[in-house]
Amino acid sequence: MKDDRIKFDRNTPFQRALRDEVDAYFKANNLDPKGGAALARKAAFIIGWFLVSYAFSISGVLGTAGLFIGAVITGLAHAAIGFDIMHDGNHGAFSTSKAVNRWMGRTLDMVGGSSYLWRHKHNVMHHTYPNVVGTDDDIDVGGLARLAPEQPHYAAHRLQHLYMWGLYGLISVKWNFYDDFAQVAKGQIFTSKVPRPKGEEMVWFVIGKIIHFGWALVLPIALFGWGLGIAFYLVEAVVLGVTLAVVFQLAHCVEEADFTELPEGTVTELDFAKHQLATTVDFARDNKLVTWFLGGLNFQAIHHLFPKISHVHYPALSPIVERVCAEHGVAYRLNGGFMEALGSHYRWLKRMSIPPVAVPVVKPAL
Ligand SMILES: [Zn+2]
Repeated sequence: MKDDRIKFDRNTPFQRALRDEVDAYFKANNLDPKGGAALARKAAFIIGWFLVSYAFSISGVLGTAGLFIGAVITGLAHAAIGFDIMHDGNHGAFSTSKAVNRWMGRTLDMVGGSSYLWRHKHNVMHHTYPNVVGTDDDIDVGGLARLAPEQPHYAAHRLQHLYMWGLYGLISVKWNFYDDFAQVAKGQIFTSKVPRPKGEEMVWFVIGKIIHFGWALVLPIALFGWGLGIAFYLVEAVVLGVTLAVVFQLAHCVEEADFTELPEGTVTELDFAKHQLATTVDFARDNKLVTWFLGGLNFQAIHHLFPKISHVHYPALSPIVERVCAEHGVAYRLNGGFMEALGSHYRWLKRMSIPPVAVPVVKPAL
């Protein structure tokens, strides 16, 4: 779980200034850093959106067209559960109550993931080591693409800026049928050992899989037959996969982000906050709809600095953090709009599709 190649300093003057300014904001406005009633209302709306769109899809009122239109709308609601509810819950940011956070985190189990594996993979591996090649599982797609300069280049990568958009759609299918089961069976996620879930965690892993396969696959097949039932699952899962993958990529896998290669056998010391800010990029911060739907993941720099603060506070915190960064000479990286960030991700994929130039071996004159 720990990457021995890296040692983070977590108490620099820059980090103390960030913490002091953010604490001062909550004190001055008499606010709690957790989501509170505003997030509870939002979560209720999103769960309602998901249930109504799913019920509309499988009710068959508009026939086959309704089934597929409903699958697209359900897929978007499904992504919103991930961005806005389970993400805050699993970070302990939804509520001051541990039990509420745990239940909100478990919404992930009901929609096809595993909150237990997520907390290891996302809260520890990704949040501690974003864009660290060899530890951050989110930038490793098993050789299907080259996302960081240090990753090996294969011939097929020359077209990755074209084919990856299709593969993003299949991420959730792979997650449903392979990743979670393989990670529990092996007791390992990417390069890190993770204890197998035990007791209550294992029970919820199994219950979650039954609930998810029940609504996503078994019920649609029972109502519409094998062909349409599987097609419903695939449309819903592809909409979800593309939405999740693109949002992640726009924050970390763009031209503006750094990627960290660590030499083996030595320990590199880094300022924790500066590392997070160098590898994370905000986008579309003025777009209220994007901000609402993405659970503030377009303010990803704030999220990486303060993951235990709920996303409902990110728009107010971002100018404060940006000012502290400027005072300490630290770059705060951002893209303008959503399309600008999308273009930057495309250009990064294209840049990484080009094989690295081999350094000529200069032989000494004999
Ligand atoms: Zn997170």
